Amino acid sequence: IKRNPHESEFHQAVKEILDSLTPVFAKHPKYMKNGILERIVEPERVVSFRVPWVDDNGKTQVNRGFRVQFNSAIGPYKGGLRFHPSVNASIIKFLGFEQIFKNSLTGQPIGGGKGGSDFDPKGKSDNEVMKFTQSFMTELYKYIGPDTDVPAGDIGVGGREIGYMFGQYKRIRGGHEGGVLTGKGIIYGGSLTRTEATGYGCVYFVNEMLESKGLSFQDSTVVISGSGNVSIYAIDKANQLGAKVVACSDSNGYIYDPKGINLQTVKRLKEVERKRISEYVDEHPHAVYTEGCEGIWSIPCDIALPCATQNEIDEEAAKTLVANGVKAIGEGANMPSTLEAIEVFLGNNVLFGPAKAANAGGVAVSALEMSQNSMRLSWTFEEVDAKLHGIMKNIYQNSVRAAEVYGHSGNLVVGANIAGFIRVADAMLAQGVV
Ligand code: NDP
Repeated sequence: IKRNPHESEFHQAVKEILDSLTPVFAKHPKYMKNGILERIVEPERVVSFRVPWVDDNGKTQVNRGFRVQFNSAIGPYKGGLRFHPSVNASIIKFLGFEQIFKNSLTGQPIGGGKGGSDFDPKGKSDNEVMKFTQSFMTELYKYIGPDTDVPAGDIGVGGREIGYMFGQYKRIRGGHEGGVLTGKGIIYGGSLTRTEATGYGCVYFVNEMLESKGLSFQDSTVVISGSGNVSIYAIDKANQLGAKVVACSDSNGYIYDPKGINLQTVKRLKEVERKRISEYVDEHPHAVYTEGCEGIWSIPCDIALPCATQNEIDEEAAKTLVANGVKAIGEGANMPSTLEAIEVFLGNNVLFGPAKAANAGGVAVSALEMSQNSMRLSWTFEEVDAKLHGIMKNIYQNSVRAAEVYGHSGNLVVGANIAGFIRVADAMLAQGVV
């Protein structure tokens, strides 16, 4: 805390991991040696830079850009870029730290990194988004590359932003280094299933948890926060598995549709028209819109998938979910539950899929996009989806096994943290003190 003052989100993420690792140190003291812990919590590199751009009124705007290259023990840095006004060093460091263990859990050769800017894409014209992203990439390009650091999307960064950034990178560097970014459009090197991957992967993971208790998505009631990339495809896959998703949200409020959310309306409003979720009720007047997003967790459900942002479920919201009989939580967003909320879920035997494991499908398919770019191949939707499904099952099984081996049977928070840590720590030990 003294070393990183004012970085509460980063402290929270580190505390969750370190608390889980106690049984590993007790069983294998080698992980206490060579400064593994001291090194793993210190990013290999942090870059912070000015992003100047000119808006549609001719006014010069200045935002702040970040890239945290946290750990490259098992592969090139890999992790998304977030454009949101709340972005600061603490948020990017917490996301980068989590990414190390998540990427390790996928079993693929990718290290951990994250980046972004306090730029707010909301309400900006296409031209302004392009101007900003071009300026952002004009600095970022110095630090990234297909074998060095491969950014992707996150909150506020989707296909449009990746496209503009890729165009600018190509213009500066020359050539077509397809593998420098993932989440690209299909016609210029993207992978099928990448758009769906995080949401689908989260539902695949939760399905494994449910099946272990003889439960399923079929006929269950589901609440999913957010209405962005992760939420939309979590709704899609939950529907495919026979569930009824009754609520979703954006940063202004949430909608409750007892007949089941109409996904086509949400997709059009959010992906095409870039409007607010409140407009859903104009087309579906039987649905109810409520201002403010916290209330979404008071809607009774069997399964809750927080897919918006960090710390969106606090202790009180967790208690409400439990009182209403929730059976499973799958974290589609990064760190959406506070440490106190996680205690409530685990203490009440709610099946709990932590973000590192449950939302790893996005980065897993990003790594598959990198493989396809290197091989100059494009796999079909079905091929990539089958690989994604297999990876999510593996992550689940490895997390279950690690929890068992280290005496915390059924606790996937501990299991995922340990399974992710051991691979990275072994690689760090093998490579000496660097
Ligand atoms: P999007 O920008 O596509 O969507 C984010 C959604 O969450 C929007 O509905 C947004 O509402 C809402 N939201 C954002 N910030 C807040 C806030 N402070 N309070 C309430 N609601 C908020 O992002 P993604 O779907 O890509 O990301 C969602 C989460 O999933 C993030 O935690 C991200 O880190 C995580 N994640 C994403 C992956 C991916 O592949 N995209 C991979 C792994 C994790 P509004 O429209 O009003 O902004």
